[in-house]
Amino acid sequence: MNALEVHDLSFAYGARQALSAVSFSLAPGRFAALLGPNGAGKSTLIALLTRLYDLQTGDIRVGDHSLRDAPRAALKQLGVVFQQSTLDLDLSVEQNLRYQAALHGLSRRQTDLRVEAELARQSLTERRREKVRELNGGHRRRVEIARALLHEPRLLLLDEASVGLDPASRLALNQHVRSLCLDQGISVLWTTHLLDEVQADDALMILHQGRLVASGQVDALIQAQGGDLGSVFARLTRPTATGAAA
Ligand code: ADP
Repeated sequence: MNALEVHDLSFAYGARQALSAVSFSLAPGRFAALLGPNGAGKSTLIALLTRLYDLQTGDIRVGDHSLRDAPRAALKQLGVVFQQSTLDLDLSVEQNLRYQAALHGLSRRQTDLRVEAELARQSLTERRREKVRELNGGHRRRVEIARALLHEPRLLLLDEASVGLDPASRLALNQHVRSLCLDQGISVLWTTHLLDEVQADDALMILHQGRLVASGQVDALIQAQGGDLGSVFARLTRPTATGAAA
Protein backbone atom coordinates (compact mmCIF):
# COMPACT_ATOMS: atom_id res chain seq x y z
CA MET A 1 0.00 0.00 0.00
CA ASN A 2 1.30 3.45 -0.89
CA ALA A 3 1.76 6.06 1.83
CA LEU A 4 0.26 8.68 -0.46
CA GLU A 5 -1.68 8.61 -3.70
CA VAL A 6 -2.70 11.76 -5.49
CA HIS A 7 -5.14 10.93 -8.24
CA ASP A 8 -6.14 13.24 -11.07
CA LEU A 9 -6.19 16.28 -8.82
CA SER A 10 -7.36 19.57 -10.26
CA PHE A 11 -8.17 22.78 -8.45
CA ALA A 12 -9.18 26.27 -9.56
CA TYR A 13 -9.53 29.57 -7.74
CA GLY A 14 -12.50 30.84 -9.71
CA ALA A 15 -11.27 31.09 -13.29
CA ARG A 16 -7.62 30.62 -12.24
CA GLN A 17 -6.55 26.99 -12.69
CA ALA A 18 -3.95 26.23 -10.00
CA LEU A 19 -3.62 22.42 -10.42
CA SER A 20 -4.41 20.38 -13.52
CA ALA A 21 -4.80 16.58 -13.40
CA VAL A 22 -1.92 15.96 -10.99
CA SER A 23 -1.30 12.27 -10.18
CA PHE A 24 1.56 10.63 -8.31
CA SER A 25 2.15 8.10 -5.54
CA LEU A 26 4.64 7.74 -2.76
CA ALA A 27 5.82 4.35 -1.46
CA PRO A 28 6.29 3.67 2.27
CA GLY A 29 9.62 4.80 3.72
CA ARG A 30 10.42 7.09 0.79
CA PHE A 31 11.82 10.60 0.90
CA ALA A 32 10.10 12.59 -1.83
CA ALA A 33 10.88 16.14 -2.80
CA LEU A 34 8.24 18.39 -4.30
CA LEU A 35 9.84 21.12 -6.36
CA GLY A 36 8.35 23.96 -8.31
CA PRO A 37 8.93 27.64 -9.01
CA ASN A 38 6.67 30.30 -7.53
CA GLY A 39 3.10 29.88 -8.64
CA ALA A 40 3.61 26.20 -9.56
CA GLY A 41 0.78 25.04 -7.28
CA LYS A 42 2.75 23.63 -4.31
CA SER A 43 0.83 25.57 -1.66
CA THR A 44 -2.45 24.64 -3.27
CA LEU A 45 -1.50 20.97 -3.24
CA ILE A 46 -0.55 21.22 0.44
CA ALA A 47 -3.75 23.05 1.28
CA LEU A 48 -5.70 20.21 -0.34
CA LEU A 49 -3.62 17.53 1.40
CA THR A 50 -4.16 19.10 4.80
CA ARG A 51 -7.81 19.80 4.02
CA LEU A 52 -7.49 23.51 4.38
CA TYR A 53 -9.37 23.53 1.06
CA ASP A 54 -12.02 21.05 -0.01
CA LEU A 55 -11.23 18.84 -2.97
CA GLN A 56 -12.79 19.86 -6.28
CA THR A 57 -11.74 17.20 -8.79
CA GLY A 58 -9.76 14.02 -8.10
CA ASP A 59 -8.82 12.40 -4.81
CA ILE A 60 -5.97 12.01 -2.35
CA ARG A 61 -5.42 8.79 -0.39
CA VAL A 62 -3.22 8.72 2.69
CA GLY A 63 -2.48 5.07 3.43
CA ASP A 64 -5.69 3.25 2.63
CA HIS A 65 -8.02 6.17 3.36
CA SER A 66 -9.53 8.57 0.89
CA LEU A 67 -9.51 12.22 1.87
CA ARG A 68 -12.79 12.58 0.03
CA ASP A 69 -14.62 9.60 1.61
CA ALA A 70 -12.92 9.27 5.00
CA PRO A 71 -11.18 12.57 5.77
CA ARG A 72 -10.69 11.97 9.49
CA ALA A 73 -9.07 8.58 9.00
CA ALA A 74 -6.90 9.95 6.19
CA LEU A 75 -5.75 12.95 8.25
CA LYS A 76 -4.84 10.65 11.15
CA GLN A 77 -2.18 9.15 8.89
CA LEU A 78 -0.67 12.55 8.19
CA GLY A 79 1.77 14.67 10.20
CA VAL A 80 2.39 18.23 9.02
CA VAL A 81 5.11 20.80 9.62
CA PHE A 82 3.84 24.05 8.17
CA GLN A 83 6.09 26.74 6.77
CA GLN A 84 5.09 29.16 9.52
CA SER A 85 5.83 27.82 12.99
CA THR A 86 2.83 27.42 15.25
CA LEU A 87 4.74 26.54 18.42
CA ASP A 88 3.97 28.44 21.62
CA LEU A 89 7.29 30.17 22.29
CA ASP A 90 6.57 30.67 25.99
CA LEU A 91 5.84 27.02 26.69
CA SER A 92 8.59 24.47 27.16
CA VAL A 93 9.41 21.88 24.53
CA GLU A 94 7.59 19.23 26.53
CA GLN A 95 4.55 21.43 27.19
CA ASN A 96 4.17 22.08 23.46
CA LEU A 97 4.17 18.33 22.84
CA ARG A 98 1.74 17.57 25.67
CA TYR A 99 -0.64 20.21 24.42
CA GLN A 100 -0.66 18.58 20.99
CA ALA A 101 -1.16 15.13 22.52
CA ALA A 102 -4.23 16.48 24.32
CA LEU A 103 -5.58 17.83 21.02
CA HIS A 104 -5.17 14.34 19.56
CA GLY A 105 -7.08 12.90 22.52
CA LEU A 106 -4.22 10.66 23.67
CA SER A 107 -4.60 9.14 27.14
CA ARG A 108 -2.25 10.16 29.96
CA ARG A 109 -0.26 6.97 29.58
CA GLN A 110 -0.07 7.18 25.78
CA THR A 111 0.99 10.81 26.09
CA ASP A 112 3.83 9.94 28.47
CA LEU A 113 5.04 7.19 26.17
CA ARG A 114 4.75 9.12 22.93
CA VAL A 115 6.28 12.36 24.28
CA GLU A 116 9.21 10.41 25.71
CA ALA A 117 9.74 8.52 22.46
CA GLU A 118 9.62 11.62 20.27
CA LEU A 119 11.89 13.66 22.52
CA ALA A 120 14.45 10.85 22.27
CA ARG A 121 13.99 10.39 18.54
CA GLN A 122 14.53 14.09 17.87
CA SER A 123 17.47 14.28 20.36
CA LEU A 124 15.53 16.78 22.46
CA THR A 125 15.31 14.92 25.77
CA GLU A 126 17.83 17.17 27.49
CA ARG A 127 16.04 20.28 26.27
CA ARG A 128 12.56 19.24 27.29
CA ARG A 129 12.21 21.92 29.98
CA GLU A 130 13.59 24.78 27.91
CA LYS A 131 11.17 27.33 26.54
CA VAL A 132 10.91 27.11 22.77
CA ARG A 133 11.90 30.78 22.64
CA GLU A 134 15.36 29.79 23.91
CA LEU A 135 15.98 27.27 21.11
CA ASN A 136 17.69 27.97 17.80
CA GLY A 137 15.81 27.61 14.51
CA GLY A 138 16.98 24.06 13.83
CA HIS A 139 15.89 22.81 17.24
CA ARG A 140 12.54 24.56 16.94
CA ARG A 141 11.98 22.67 13.70
CA ARG A 142 12.77 19.43 15.53
CA VAL A 143 10.13 20.24 18.12
CA GLU A 144 7.67 20.73 15.28
CA ILE A 145 8.66 17.39 13.77
CA ALA A 146 8.27 15.67 17.15
CA ARG A 147 4.85 17.26 17.48
CA ALA A 148 3.84 16.20 13.96
CA LEU A 149 4.84 12.59 14.71
CA LEU A 150 3.15 12.24 18.12
CA HIS A 151 0.13 10.45 16.70
CA GLU A 152 2.40 8.11 14.66
CA PRO A 153 1.37 9.09 11.16
CA ARG A 154 2.47 7.15 8.11
CA LEU A 155 3.33 10.28 6.14
CA LEU A 156 5.17 13.42 7.22
CA LEU A 157 4.64 16.53 5.16
CA LEU A 158 7.13 19.38 5.51
CA ASP A 159 6.40 22.62 3.71
CA GLU A 160 9.60 24.57 3.06
CA ALA A 161 10.78 23.48 6.50
CA SER A 162 14.32 24.73 6.05
CA VAL A 163 13.41 28.32 5.20
CA GLY A 164 15.16 30.77 7.51
CA LEU A 165 17.79 28.31 8.75
CA ASP A 166 21.51 28.88 8.28
CA PRO A 167 23.20 26.49 5.79
CA ALA A 168 24.55 24.10 8.43
CA SER A 169 21.20 23.81 10.24
CA ARG A 170 19.43 23.42 6.91
CA LEU A 171 21.63 20.47 6.00
CA ALA A 172 21.33 18.95 9.47
CA LEU A 173 17.53 19.15 9.35
CA ASN A 174 17.44 17.59 5.89
CA GLN A 175 19.69 14.73 7.05
CA HIS A 176 17.67 14.26 10.19
CA VAL A 177 14.41 13.91 8.28
CA ARG A 178 16.07 11.43 5.92
CA SER A 179 17.10 9.31 8.89
CA LEU A 180 13.44 9.16 9.97
CA CYS A 181 12.64 7.58 6.60
CA LEU A 182 15.48 5.09 6.83
CA ASP A 183 15.12 4.11 10.47
CA GLN A 184 11.39 4.39 11.02
CA GLY A 185 9.89 3.70 7.60
CA ILE A 186 8.03 7.03 7.61
CA SER A 187 7.34 8.53 4.19
CA VAL A 188 8.26 12.16 3.77
CA LEU A 189 6.99 14.76 1.36
CA TRP A 190 9.47 17.63 1.48
CA THR A 191 8.61 20.76 -0.45
CA THR A 192 11.42 23.12 -1.30
CA HIS A 193 12.72 25.46 -3.95
CA LEU A 194 16.34 24.58 -3.13
CA LEU A 195 17.84 21.94 -5.38
CA ASP A 196 20.69 21.13 -2.99
CA GLU A 197 18.14 19.61 -0.59
CA VAL A 198 17.45 16.86 -3.13
CA GLN A 199 19.54 13.68 -3.48
CA ALA A 200 20.02 11.19 -6.30
CA ASP A 201 17.92 8.40 -4.81
CA ASP A 202 15.00 10.62 -3.74
CA ALA A 203 11.64 10.44 -5.39
CA LEU A 204 11.00 13.77 -7.09
CA MET A 205 7.92 15.54 -8.33
CA ILE A 206 8.29 18.78 -10.26
CA LEU A 207 5.25 21.03 -10.57
CA HIS A 208 5.08 23.78 -13.12
CA GLN A 209 2.06 25.97 -13.83
CA GLY A 210 -0.20 23.51 -12.06
CA ARG A 211 0.98 20.44 -13.94
CA LEU A 212 3.26 17.63 -12.87
CA VAL A 213 6.05 17.92 -15.44
CA ALA A 214 8.29 15.21 -13.94
CA SER A 215 7.98 12.43 -11.42
CA GLY A 216 10.34 9.58 -10.60
CA GLN A 217 13.65 8.88 -8.94
CA VAL A 218 16.07 11.79 -9.32
CA ASP A 219 18.96 9.86 -10.89
CA ALA A 220 16.63 8.20 -13.40
CA LEU A 221 15.14 11.58 -14.35
CA ILE A 222 18.59 13.06 -14.83
CA GLN A 223 19.65 10.10 -16.95
CA ALA A 224 16.55 10.33 -19.10
CA GLN A 225 16.75 14.10 -19.56
CA GLY A 226 20.50 14.68 -19.61
CA GLY A 227 22.49 17.34 -17.74
CA ASP A 228 22.21 17.79 -13.98
CA LEU A 229 19.24 18.47 -11.71
CA GLY A 230 19.63 22.23 -12.15
CA SER A 231 19.44 22.06 -15.92
CA VAL A 232 16.60 19.51 -15.89
CA PHE A 233 14.63 21.74 -13.52
CA ALA A 234 15.33 24.87 -15.57
CA ARG A 235 14.28 23.15 -18.80
CA LEU A 236 11.06 21.74 -17.36
CA THR A 237 9.99 24.93 -15.63
CA ARG A 238 10.77 27.44 -18.35
CA PRO A 239 8.17 30.23 -18.23
CA THR A 240 5.64 30.27 -21.02
CA ALA A 241 3.95 33.26 -22.55
CA THR A 242 0.67 32.77 -20.66
CA GLY A 243 2.17 32.04 -17.25
CA ALA A 244 -0.94 30.08 -16.36
CA ALA A 245 -1.87 26.43 -16.28
CA ALA A 246 -3.86 25.40 -19.31
P1 ADP B 1 3.25 27.90 -5.17
O1 ADP B 1 2.96 27.52 -3.76
O2 ADP B 1 3.95 26.83 -5.94
O3 ADP B 1 3.96 29.23 -5.28
P2 ADP B 1 0.39 28.39 -5.37
O4 ADP B 1 -0.31 27.13 -5.07
O5 ADP B 1 0.47 29.43 -4.30
O6 ADP B 1 1.85 28.08 -5.94
O7 ADP B 1 -0.30 29.08 -6.63
C1 ADP B 1 -0.72 28.37 -7.80
C2 ADP B 1 -1.53 29.32 -8.69
O8 ADP B 1 -2.74 29.66 -8.04
C3 ADP B 1 -0.83 30.62 -9.00
O9 ADP B 1 -1.17 30.99 -10.32
C4 ADP B 1 -1.42 31.59 -8.01
O10 ADP B 1 -1.42 32.89 -8.51
C5 ADP B 1 -2.83 31.07 -7.87
N1 ADP B 1 -3.39 31.29 -6.52
C6 ADP B 1 -2.88 30.86 -5.35
N2 ADP B 1 -3.66 31.22 -4.31
C7 ADP B 1 -4.71 31.90 -4.87
C8 ADP B 1 -5.87 32.53 -4.32
N3 ADP B 1 -6.12 32.52 -2.99
N4 ADP B 1 -6.71 33.14 -5.18
C9 ADP B 1 -6.47 33.15 -6.51
N5 ADP B 1 -5.41 32.57 -7.09
C10 ADP B 1 -4.53 31.96 -6.28
